[in-house]
Amino acid sequence: KQQKSKMPAYPGLERYTLVEKMGDGAFSNVYKAHDTKMDRMVAVKVVRKFELNAHQRANILKEVQIMRQLKHSGIVELYEFTESNEHYFLVLELAPGGELFHRIVKLTYFSEELTRHVIVQVAQAIRYLHEEKGVIHRDIKPENILFEPIPIIPSSPGARPDEDDKEDEGVFQAGIGGGGIGRVKIADFGLSKVVWNEHTMTPCGTVGYTAPEIVKDERYSKSVDMWAMGCVLYTLLCGFPPFYDESIQALTEKVARGQYSFLSPWWDEISTSVKDLITHLLCVNPNERYTIDQFLAHPWIRAGETAAKKEE
Ligand code: ADP
Ligand code: MG
Repeated sequence: KQQKSKMPAYPGLERYTLVEKMGDGAFSNVYKAHDTKMDRMVAVKVVRKFELNAHQRANILKEVQIMRQLKHSGIVELYEFTESNEHYFLVLELAPGGELFHRIVKLTYFSEELTRHVIVQVAQAIRYLHEEKGVIHRDIKPENILFEPIPIIPSSPGARPDEDDKEDEGVFQAGIGGGGIGRVKIADFGLSKVVWNEHTMTPCGTVGYTAPEIVKDERYSKSVDMWAMGCVLYTLLCGFPPFYDESIQALTEKVARGQYSFLSPWWDEISTSVKDLITHLLCVNPNERYTIDQFLAHPWIRAGETAAKKEE
């Protein structure tokens, strides 16, 4: 394909054949690539070292260190990490379905059912991070929530697994009933951090000596992901974010005050149950905000479990 000739060749990355660019960041490019040794498609995040200051370099290494400890179906896996003089290379599990962000743009907004299908998977990954690993993601947003491989749609005869742009239709035409369709994965641990947690870093024996502000801080910091989940949930349902303003200063004030509303007419038909859930996530006081377990126990989330059971 013409794309191939335009792909850069990075010294140190000979094992991988770059196929196309999938994402752009300030200091990195993400490529779809073929791992010739394993004969599988992967994503390679190429980070330009020389544009980073010492702090940012340390952050990349922390991202790698955190990702190495994670193994969950809702989280992009880090297969390998290597570096050359000029670059860091993060070889990642490929999520070829693209960003949730693009799905929203394409569909305008999601039904409650589809929204639940997506947000429950995000929540299960967050539960794993918060409760099992003591990791806070800190950058949950639609650009960092990616879709898995697109299934073959049985009802369309010409459908085949295509590496080009068939992907855009796949997931949602296929519906959400069939198992495994439209799985989502969390990516981008560039801002993530490990919090003090008895399962991770600190020996249990010291728990009794921990100051309240540290214990509270752990809870507060996890709650930043819950706020972000509230924003994602809101955005999925109506197609625009809860907080928006052209002026950064005005936007900051709105967020600080938790000033959002369920705007008519967009929210008129949306259930009071999911609005209740959003209200418990977009609480200014982190102490009042739902934890991940409270989120997963909410009736609107649980309603999906009974629906899924009936289908089986
Ligand atoms: P940044 O720190 O620059 O935001 P990300 O890790 O979020 O870096 O990657 C940037 C973009 O690259 C993502 O928003 C996504 O579009 C794409 N991308 C990242 N990882 C993958 C992956 N494993 N599979 C497919 N696309 C990916
Ligand atoms: Mg990102």
